[in-house]
Amino acid sequence: MFDKDHYEEVKKRLEGRAELCAVSKMHSIEEIQCAYDMGQRRFGENKAGELVSKANALPKDIEWHFIGHLQRNKVRQILPYVSCIESLDSVRLAEEIEKEAAKLDKTVSCLLEFHLALKDENKTGLPEEEALEVLRACRLPHINIKGIMAMGPHTEDEAEIREVFQRGRALFERLQKEDPGLTVLSMGMSDDYPIAVDCGATLVRIGSYLFHGEP
Ligand SMILES: *Cc1c(COP(=O)(O)O)cnc(C)c1O
Repeated sequence: MFDKDHYEEVKKRLEGRAELCAVSKMHSIEEIQCAYDMGQRRFGENKAGELVSKANALPKDIEWHFIGHLQRNKVRQILPYVSCIESLDSVRLAEEIEKEAAKLDKTVSCLLEFHLALKDENKTGLPEEEALEVLRACRLPHINIKGIMAMGPHTEDEAEIREVFQRGRALFERLQKEDPGLTVLSMGMSDDYPIAVDCGATLVRIGSYLFHGEP
């Protein structure tokens, strides 16, 4: 169920500070429509097939963000629908996106996803050390790198979460020196977004706090 009270609370907390990507994965067309009717236009999905079927069923002015691990053989499927791929995590994936976007004559916005939470085993994202090299390699005609995405650590320890988000902010600023066009720092989910916004996130990805219960 889409929680209108939580939506209004989140919008108020973010006002003037960060944008919201409402993560609608596993939730229904009806629930997304309900969020849309409250004015939400940016949604995040992590499965290619699910994004495509929802995009086909919902209003065309929705801005779909892909936030999950993207396999190269799914790029072609999502490209016509997606406005931002937040989970660009390899040069090979960038080259596949470039190839398919060129065929569509479309430029796609992407964020480089970094793995900053050292202890987490469930690694997705690039290591920090490769940041500059990958940013340079992703300067391709049909890709517009707009910034970076990172996840906080799986812990309740606020100091640890803050430390990871501060590293995200520092990395973002370092990359901005290389490319002043970078404007998006995507960090923060339901449980940690206020800390992420404190640390300078410009975009948060919130799912379960907005859509809860059984999908
Ligand atoms: C599911 C997901 C989110 C949202 O997480 P919640 O805890 O439900 O707010 C954010 N980012 C990514 C990459 C996700 O997969």
